[in-house]
Amino acid sequence: MYDVHSKHAEDFINHEEILETLAYADENKHNAALIDTLIEKAKKRKGLSHREASVLLACDLKEKNEEIFRLAEQIKKDFYGNRIVMFAPLYLSNYCINGCTYCPYHAKNKHIARKQLTQEEIRREVIALQDMGHKRLALEAGEDPIRNTMDYYLDSINTIYSIKHKNGAIRRVNINIAATTVDNYRLLKEAGIGTYILFQETYHKESYLKLHPTGPKHDYAYHTEAMDRAMEGGIDDVGIGVLFGLDKYRYEFAGLLMHAEHLEAAFGVGPHTISVPRLRDADDIDSSSFKNGIDDDTFAKLVACIRIAVPYTGMIISTRESQKTRERVLHLGISQISGGSRTSVGGYCEPEPDTEKSEQFDVVDTRTLDEVVCWLMEMGYIPSFCTACYREGRTGDRFMSLCKSGQIQNCCHPNALMTLKEYLMDYASPKTKAIGDALIEKEVFNVPNEKARSVVLENLRLIEQDNRRDFRF
Ligand code: SAM
Repeated sequence: MYDVHSKHAEDFINHEEILETLAYADENKHNAALIDTLIEKAKKRKGLSHREASVLLACDLKEKNEEIFRLAEQIKKDFYGNRIVMFAPLYLSNYCINGCTYCPYHAKNKHIARKQLTQEEIRREVIALQDMGHKRLALEAGEDPIRNTMDYYLDSINTIYSIKHKNGAIRRVNINIAATTVDNYRLLKEAGIGTYILFQETYHKESYLKLHPTGPKHDYAYHTEAMDRAMEGGIDDVGIGVLFGLDKYRYEFAGLLMHAEHLEAAFGVGPHTISVPRLRDADDIDSSSFKNGIDDDTFAKLVACIRIAVPYTGMIISTRESQKTRERVLHLGISQISGGSRTSVGGYCEPEPDTEKSEQFDVVDTRTLDEVVCWLMEMGYIPSFCTACYREGRTGDRFMSLCKSGQIQNCCHPNALMTLKEYLMDYASPKTKAIGDALIEKEVFNVPNEKARSVVLENLRLIEQDNRRDFRF
């Protein structure tokens, strides 16, 4: 039975409830009066339930859809301004004992090169990432309890935080690794991770079991209840997501929102981020053999509806998407993007030889970080390298309450400008620096109060003189 508070996966992601939600959405997809009421409710910026948001997702009335897109854009502006947080993935190991049918790391793939970075290799990769300008990483790994142990992850996190190279430092390490125990989540928290990320892949249990035929990941309940255990272990920033293309997107959308509702109901804090990856070709994976792929129009609608349904939850898009698609959805709700990414184990420091490919999927947006930063600024966005919330302890419900009251803007906007200035001084090409300096000069006048503005101006001046105080709001 559907129960948002239950600890059991099949209660809080209840199949019958999702089917009823989809039926309700279908019945009402042309119900203009109801859709108007839902849009009005969403304008209050307190979000929508999975049922309500599913009606908006199903709606195919042209005029109403235009309103939905406009509202998503407005909510995105109100909560996130024009800032986009930058990050890069770092693949630690592609050893994996699971049998996921969509992922080239599956255990039966004897063709892909298997690699696990040593601590020395991690050092070299991190220095290469720091030299690009990155401050925030998402660690990635396959599931192999013998090779990819918790001790290995903890050592890797320590190594990464300890590397100080020129003006570089990784200041937030997020981690995307297999579902684990409360005790292990506690260890990850103590090691100082930012967000624990785990994609559900699909919320549809029957499909899930077929798509994960072997290995520990086959256990649907253990996987689906992972975020509950992470929260019990003290991790208050968790990132959820679905791999779109595996099952029907409207089912997944309802599941994602029910998961968010469950975390909010059970722990008082919803997910910190939602990722929206789409299935891609990879080593021995042909994405066209999966029949639930979604086109770009549907993808844009999905992003807009997530933005409206959970305004306080950051939304992440990776280099699985092209420049064009990223451009299309950024203003509809994306708050974080990766740039200059490699999905191979190693590959930042030196490109992998063709004979030793270890990539998880084909990167579509292959531009450098400098090119991505420049492109964002040319569109009027402020690429942010800020990690202050995490470092100041503004995580979980403390972050959410600042977000809900709108006060978070007072920190984010100035911090984005100062961290961008540091990036421009340390890593940008002359063209990017010129565009960035002009943008900062303009944007500094949008810092909310005069006192804060003068502090920012003073810090920008110090950064320009390379006399940094590492000051953040
Ligand atoms: N081992 C971790 C786990 O058990 O969830 C996963 C981390 S994996 C390195 C990161 C994510 O990549 C997966 O959760 C999956 O959604 C995504 N992924 C796997 N195969 C993919 C493909 N062919 N195209 C796009 N994304 C893929």
